[in-house]
Amino acid sequence: MTISIASQEISEQQLDNEVVLSVEGVSKKFCRDLKRSLLYGVQDIATELVGIRQKSEKLRRDEFWALKDVSFQLRRGEALGLVGPNGSGKSTLLRIISGLIKPDSGFVEIKGRIAPLIALGAGFNPILTGRENIYANMSILGLSKKEIDERFEAVLDFAEIGAAIDAPVQTYSSGMAARLGFACAIYTEPDILLIDEVLAVGDIKFRAKCYRRLAKLREQGTSFILVSHNSHSILSICESAIYLLKGKVVTVGNTDSVVDKYEKDLFSNEIKNQAKLLSLTDKYESKQSDLNITALCFKDEQGNLTRSLLSGETTYFCVEFKAYKEIENVTLSFLIQETFGESEHVLCINTQQDGESWDILPGYYEIQLKMPYLGLKPSFYTLKLSISKNLYYMLDAVESFKFTVEGKGMSQCLFYQPRTWKLVRSHNI
Ligand code: ADP
Ligand code: MG
Repeated sequence: MTISIASQEISEQQLDNEVVLSVEGVSKKFCRDLKRSLLYGVQDIATELVGIRQKSEKLRRDEFWALKDVSFQLRRGEALGLVGPNGSGKSTLLRIISGLIKPDSGFVEIKGRIAPLIALGAGFNPILTGRENIYANMSILGLSKKEIDERFEAVLDFAEIGAAIDAPVQTYSSGMAARLGFACAIYTEPDILLIDEVLAVGDIKFRAKCYRRLAKLREQGTSFILVSHNSHSILSICESAIYLLKGKVVTVGNTDSVVDKYEKDLFSNEIKNQAKLLSLTDKYESKQSDLNITALCFKDEQGNLTRSLLSGETTYFCVEFKAYKEIENVTLSFLIQETFGESEHVLCINTQQDGESWDILPGYYEIQLKMPYLGLKPSFYTLKLSISKNLYYMLDAVESFKFTVEGKGMSQCLFYQPRTWKLVRSHNI
């Protein structure tokens, strides 16, 4: 009870927070053709100089809207995630916010100091040393020499690049350049930090350190815009998110619902893009093999076919096949991956491990794998499966079978934990 009251207070407090960034109706067009884009650039400058340039809502030949009518607000201490497929305009939006490029229409209003972390080592001069770049970079971000002097050691310490600080940045690995860029940006103590997919670099320890530092900055009231391919990091850091598609805002709202919509779209595209693997029944039969997988499906406790899987529910995974010959020592192995996840395998099972193998006669069969509690958390998965003889001689395989697991409020978990709760009173006061 007390917890819910506390969080309510926080959210009310956040509602009162001032807006530090406001993006209003921002549109930006680009030209696909470089030559033509230069020509348009010269035309635009010329017409602007004589004062007749109008902000055209029309596209000229080869132009397209990289951003169209994007509006949102960011409040003090808020972390906003930006998701969308490649080319949806995320980087363009960050570049406009940071002032690197101008929008064709709309405006951006910023209160305070903004620090962009947009491309690896962006803003670094490759022939200057790390030390010189720290000064150059942090002064561009608005710090005085004295302020940089004060922070220098902290930046060096955070970036962990040691003696290389006096070597030219062009000799740095991309990880080193990213660490230095990150350290510079966060030690300017900005009011708004823009992060474009840079957290994906570096080893896990450095990433963990970055996240801790981000959390600290956030406590101090820094606002963030974070672009990431990894929905997990968006989910764990951001309370709200924007889903951009072809330059337009599809959804804005709380992170869970936005990421959910984004992943569903991604997933349904994936399904559309690939051959229908769900019904293997119409898969052509290759007579060359002794065995053919004919269908894959999920069944519930009652043996009914099910399309929607739920974490924690009893689930049967069934593989139907046809054997043309007598085969000994038939085994099955399967491997599950999270479709958009980082880790290679989530689950890797084979019947051999479990001491199961079968000798079969010609005929139709179904192997049923019973999972008393489906331990997979809600997400999108890709399954690879193979049936073999003596484990190594592969008879037939399915390369990628896609499925979805649903469930509530488990976006931060790694797996489903079967559980029960109980309150035990130990003694009276
Ligand atoms: P995202 O970061 O979401 O992957 P971007 O903002 O980088 O997308 O790009 C959006 C679209 O604009 C893409 O189609 C990209 O090719 C195009 N684009 C980006 N910058 C330029 C540019 N300077 N000139 C022409 N086209 C560009
Ligand atoms: Mg980008």
